[in-house]
Amino acid sequence: MSPNNKRDYYEVLGVEKNASENDIKLAYRRLARKLHPDLNKTDPKAKEKFIELQEAYEVLSDSNKRNNYDRYGFSGVDVDMSSFVRGGIPGIDELLKSIFGGGSIFGGDDFGFGSIFGSRGRSHSTPRREVGQDIENYVEITFEEAMFGGKKDVVIQRYTPCDECEGTGAEDPSSVKTCPQCEGSGRMRKLTQSGFGTIIRESECYTCNGTGKIIKKKCSVCNGRKVVAETKTIHINTPPGVENGVHLKVQGAGHIPSSRAIPGDLYLGIRIEENNQFIRRGNDLFTPISLDIITAILGGEISVPTLDYKTEKVTEKELKIPPGTQHGTEFRIKNRGATYLRGKGKGDQYIVITIEIPKKVTEEQRTLLEKFKDLN
Ligand SMILES: [Zn+2]
Ligand SMILES: [Zn+2]
Repeated sequence: MSPNNKRDYYEVLGVEKNASENDIKLAYRRLARKLHPDLNKTDPKAKEKFIELQEAYEVLSDSNKRNNYDRYGFSGVDVDMSSFVRGGIPGIDELLKSIFGGGSIFGGDDFGFGSIFGSRGRSHSTPRREVGQDIENYVEITFEEAMFGGKKDVVIQRYTPCDECEGTGAEDPSSVKTCPQCEGSGRMRKLTQSGFGTIIRESECYTCNGTGKIIKKKCSVCNGRKVVAETKTIHINTPPGVENGVHLKVQGAGHIPSSRAIPGDLYLGIRIEENNQFIRRGNDLFTPISLDIITAILGGEISVPTLDYKTEKVTEKELKIPPGTQHGTEFRIKNRGATYLRGKGKGDQYIVITIEIPKKVTEEQRTLLEKFKDLN
């Protein structure tokens, strides 16, 4: 599956971005019991969903991997589920035991944290905090920057709490009043008569938008909006080997709706300028080179563009052409491809030979070629 079709790991586990380790464990256990193919015989996609869940858990339960995922998205983590799938999915009991240790999961609550069945009340999760909206943007980088990694400055527009009123939206604290409409509750009740009697409908108070407070005199800087627009330059490092179309995640660089809120994130789509000397397929690079017919027949030495990882530049390299080189021959230059984002090492470069047949020859050349033909 390409990273673009993958669901966000937090979304898979159904947890917030700031979820604690325990929140993640609990969410995993709850979903594992719902989706494990041994237990779920009704959903034909249970196995697929379970593998997705397992992958999300393996990343988010490991603080290192989680950090990388938060910073770089899918390109920052290396999870290979193929062995997990090939070896056969372990039984649910075995699996949960390996994660939670001790006792059977059917035996009850012998875990060090709140039960998912609610018998010990709520788990110790932190109260929900407002989360700012994410920002999507893109950054264009050159082929060299994609191969060797690079630094980029990206200018974004986001909103942040207004300094002037400290995010209250009011000119001064005395101009914040309790909403007279809802008397501070932020909720409104509406009574409707129907054939079955009186129906009570509750909704957000439209006078104060559910905040329970109104502002008599608005802050002159933000005009009561509580936030102001900010232009910010974000410095990013693109990892060597980054692929076209991936999104780098810059945690906390999104909108900040209030000083208590968790800032949203910035997702930067990477666009790599095309380079016709290097065509990328996976981590291998293909370089088309046209070769004159004489060198192809007699052999020789040509110079080809290649990546020099020492100087972090595209340089020229001498390549020996053996006599009798055929059209379409590929010469491999090891480790001169793109850096693997997941795992170690680099791909290879392939020099793909195109033999050029001259469209015109001089009289003298013609004579020689005809002589050559006779000799053959
Ligand atoms: Zn109100
Ligand atoms: Zn203000």
